[in-house]
Amino acid sequence: MATPKKKTSKSRRDMRRSHDALTAASYMECPNCGELKRPHEVCPKCGQYNGKEVLKQKTAE
Ligand SMILES: [Zn+2]
Repeated sequence: MATPKKKTSKSRRDMRRSHDALTAASYMECPNCGELKRPHEVCPKCGQYNGKEVLKQKTAE
């Protein structure tokens, strides 16, 4: 395995990790049923996207 020639300083290591933070997943209310859903995704509850497109329909809610 390749071995580093120099020890990575705490400063360098922390600078590298400055971009590692995870961001919280974003949610928005479905304009049709009001359920929270991920933006740009079909609503898992009512199966609608962009107002009309019904991609799948769950029966008996
Ligand atoms: Zn919905």
